[in-house]
Amino acid sequence: MQFHLSGFRPGDPDVFEPNPVSRADGACDVAIVGCGPAGLTLATQLVAVGGVTVRLFERKTGPLQLGQADGIACRSMEMFEAFGIAEQVRREAYWVNETSFWRPDSDGTTLIRADRIQDVEDDLSHQPHTILSQARIHDFLLERMAQSPHRLTPEYGSRLAGFHRDDTRGYPITARVSRDTAGTWENVSCRYLVGCDGARSAVRQGLGLALEGESARQLWGVMDVLAVTDFPDIRLKCAVQSASAGSLLIIPREGGYLVRLYIELDTLGTDERAADRNVTAEDLAARARAILAPFTFEVKSVVWCSAYEVGQRVCPRFDDIAPEARGETHPRVFIAGDACHTHSPKAGQGMNVSMADAFNLGWKLASVVRGHAAPTLLDTYTSERQAKARELIDFDREMARLFSRRGRSGEDAAVFQRYFQQHGRYTAGVETHYGPSDIIADTAHQALAAGLVVGKRFHSAPVVRLADAKPMQLAEAFSADGRWRVVAFANASDDGGECGEMAALCHSLTSSCLSHWFQAQAQDVDARIDVRAVFQQSHRTLDIQAMHPLLRPEKGPLGLIDYEKVFCADHRAGHDIYARRGIDRERGAMIVVRPDHYVSCVLPLSDTDALEAFFSALEPCDCTASS
Ligand code: FAD
Repeated sequence: MQFHLSGFRPGDPDVFEPNPVSRADGACDVAIVGCGPAGLTLATQLVAVGGVTVRLFERKTGPLQLGQADGIACRSMEMFEAFGIAEQVRREAYWVNETSFWRPDSDGTTLIRADRIQDVEDDLSHQPHTILSQARIHDFLLERMAQSPHRLTPEYGSRLAGFHRDDTRGYPITARVSRDTAGTWENVSCRYLVGCDGARSAVRQGLGLALEGESARQLWGVMDVLAVTDFPDIRLKCAVQSASAGSLLIIPREGGYLVRLYIELDTLGTDERAADRNVTAEDLAARARAILAPFTFEVKSVVWCSAYEVGQRVCPRFDDIAPEARGETHPRVFIAGDACHTHSPKAGQGMNVSMADAFNLGWKLASVVRGHAAPTLLDTYTSERQAKARELIDFDREMARLFSRRGRSGEDAAVFQRYFQQHGRYTAGVETHYGPSDIIADTAHQALAAGLVVGKRFHSAPVVRLADAKPMQLAEAFSADGRWRVVAFANASDDGGECGEMAALCHSLTSSCLSHWFQAQAQDVDARIDVRAVFQQSHRTLDIQAMHPLLRPEKGPLGLIDYEKVFCADHRAGHDIYARRGIDRERGAMIVVRPDHYVSCVLPLSDTDALEAFFSALEPCDCTASS
């Protein structure tokens, strides 16, 4: 991490100098409803970018303490790295290294371990798959927000009761917020309203939208327990499918002792709700014992339990623009997370997909609010995330079907295992693949970097930072700061000198139509596009002083030099980023990476025209006269 740019400051560098931005009348750029994973991710992203006024409303009276989701996919860990909280999570969480599968033996009298597999395939992500209480994730995000210059904290005990849009007003959305305990109301004016308010979303209802699909009829029991058992794989993630008592998932939890059980219960009748069944902790423990028999399972303490209903449902759109009005006007109201899709907990996607929605939306909102992108950018939120949600629903439906077959045979269980294994990449969150749009270009030059796939997240690999010889993952340089990144991979002969293609690219960037992107903030030349260079040579053979000034820019009020923009391939066996990501050694490649880490385009190093065209489509620039 970098700090002291504006002068030496003692103390914790994670705690920024306070610079709260708010208006006396309470109006804000973005009002967020709900402090679940989606709302907190969105708020953290917006304050990390800065320059956006945010208010965050939560109807509960304080932060979550217990329960709900706990699985953190590799891709979410990559996002946490960008927020600067991955290390805390890695330290505290359970790491899912292996998964085991148990099923009935041939005569159905006992359970046997059918297989034990590596949970995350090699080089899928540099981050692990972890398990940690949703409440702790909330804590880390809340801490980030509170330490930001904005010093943002949620307004607890504040329930959204309704809203309306009037485009003739400077702040077109008026949200009616009720403080039920105090018996007071506030009309909050905002430019954008985002409903991160869960499966019964008031914002979604205010838009006249409903979740579509199978209604919530499958009842699930979940319990976090401290237990004593002779089941040997209690500290491994396990799918256990019994002959006749049903199925359960074992999710070992943080701290070494706690374990979560997901137990599939019955299908609910029409109009029946989970609460009607009155499922108790004793019921859940008894069912767990029956499934795990002949192994013993003695519950010593029930920390949290819940019975909840799940349906695979998705909202037809995630914003306030009807299909026939799309393009005529721009969205002002959005929904994210459970407000727009619900599914079973089996694949551990609830929290992850909700955070991914918010990460997708956050930088787009910040760009538009700060005047860095045309509002059409906001239309891509629904198109990208709705497609993802539909895919998830299909996946979850199939997974649920295979997991829940009653009167199963060993072969049924084997089919489930194969499906589970085959979709490991999907559940790790790294298979999201956005289709072509203004921010996802065509794949004409994909061959220049076969492993950095256009439309998918930038797949990090090891590098060595030139200036200080630090071995690191390239993604460590990709903070969630709202910046676009141009990652230029040099060709084999280029050493960064002034005759090379890298220097030519930097020169073009700062003298072309794009130059205003680098001059927007005089003290921070890379505030909008952060150019990073990677060379093939060993770091000991290159000279940082020979690099183009864009790769060692003077920044901040003191004009300090940023030495952290140039990297070299790591020449240790198996670490070379060129080999790992299929980058053309002879020609090099230029990769445009979105602020949420998705690859927008792969281009030849010399193709600054295509680069200009790409960014100009986002924010038309006034360069016709000079070109
Ligand atoms: P939520 O986490 O639901 O957050 C929505 C927030 O909005 C809540 O804090 C709510 O109080 C607030 N809110 C709602 N309406 C308003 C309003 N009008 N005004 C202001 N605030 C409002 N997933 C798993 O993977 N495993 C599990 O075991 C599991 N258990 C769950 C148990 C329960 C009881 C629930 C509700 C969910 C569970 N989930 C589980 C799902 C998982 O927690 C969600 O997928 C995830 O939290 C979705 O995040 P979100 O931010 O979209 O919504």
